[in-house]
Amino acid sequence: MINVTKPFLPPKSEYGALINDIWERNWLTNNGPLVNNLELSIKEYLKIDHFLYVSNGTIALQIAMKALNIKGEVITTPFSYVATTSSIVWEGCTPIFVDIDPLTFNIDPGKIRNAITKNTSCILATHVYGNPCAIDEINEIAKEYDLKVIYDASHCFGVQYKGGSIFEYGDISTTSFHATKLFHTVEGGGVFSKDPNIIKKVALMRNFGHDGEFKFSGVGINGKNSEFHAAMGLVNLNYIDQIIQKRNNDYQYYMNWFKGHDITFQTIQAESMYNFSYMPVLFNSEALCEKVYLILKENNIYSRRYFYPLLTELDYVESYPLPIAKDISNRVLCLPLYFQLKKEEIDLIVRLIIRTLKYK
Ligand SMILES: *Cc1c(COP(=O)(O)O)cnc(C)c1O
Repeated sequence: MINVTKPFLPPKSEYGALINDIWERNWLTNNGPLVNNLELSIKEYLKIDHFLYVSNGTIALQIAMKALNIKGEVITTPFSYVATTSSIVWEGCTPIFVDIDPLTFNIDPGKIRNAITKNTSCILATHVYGNPCAIDEINEIAKEYDLKVIYDASHCFGVQYKGGSIFEYGDISTTSFHATKLFHTVEGGGVFSKDPNIIKKVALMRNFGHDGEFKFSGVGINGKNSEFHAAMGLVNLNYIDQIIQKRNNDYQYYMNWFKGHDITFQTIQAESMYNFSYMPVLFNSEALCEKVYLILKENNIYSRRYFYPLLTELDYVESYPLPIAKDISNRVLCLPLYFQLKKEEIDLIVRLIIRTLKYK
């Protein structure tokens, strides 16, 4: 069986060594030494000043919204994982969906202004598959209307924009270190901001508002993560360059194979360095996309219609037609891409797809 993704697991002995240390210390969670070390190592790796490790990417989004005091309407993308929208609703806000760009698959900045009302407080955009949004245009709009910007950068570990980490953009960027992501800590997430005051607030919020032993500053939640999760992150971080390089090679290998065939790809934002976190391909029709999906499945290859259906289809949001997002969502398929994937397996996948295209 070939799945769309397979979590990276480091050599057991390397993880085991850190676990032995946990036994020695008997310090399992609550800002332990491994959590501290992971935060420092990630800041060093990404060359950034501020980062807080939290329990998962969803709590990162929720804390981000709370910390920025987001209320009312939040402009967002219909083409993302469910957590992007559910976090907005969970925080008591209303998602206002704006259509996406047909080439980058990210929220279309040209359509944001029309969606702004007196109740709008925030733009929450996803860098889809790790492809940077139109950051400069979004920034300009946010300034003009005094809106906060949160980026769901869950797919973005290692992505750079204009020579720096993508996580440095927006009032807050969040990420996920879930097992299926490019860089993972089994479960986990991150909150990033350039503003030390925001970071201070988030640090309090992720730990019940604990401000020393006897004082609580503001309402908080449990968004901490454990020493066991941090250990996985620390070991995996040693392999991250290898992981990204391998995915880059596979991505190019797929692209070369598909040259001259009726398949298109996401346009990656200029001035950015991509991390190859997904292998999305776009077919000419939904029928063809579905057919390829089924034929791969018959051959024990599990691609993923990601993101399908659109978030406007959720039964707790108001739905309205967004033709470009619908069209892309109907025709896009994420193909297997992971560290252990073999060239022969890619060959098999590609041959099945090309045959399906020929005899459609
Ligand atoms: C994975 C993901 C999340 C949620 O992250 P978890 O760590 O699973 O909570 C949110 N948004 C996007 C775009 C994601 O891909």
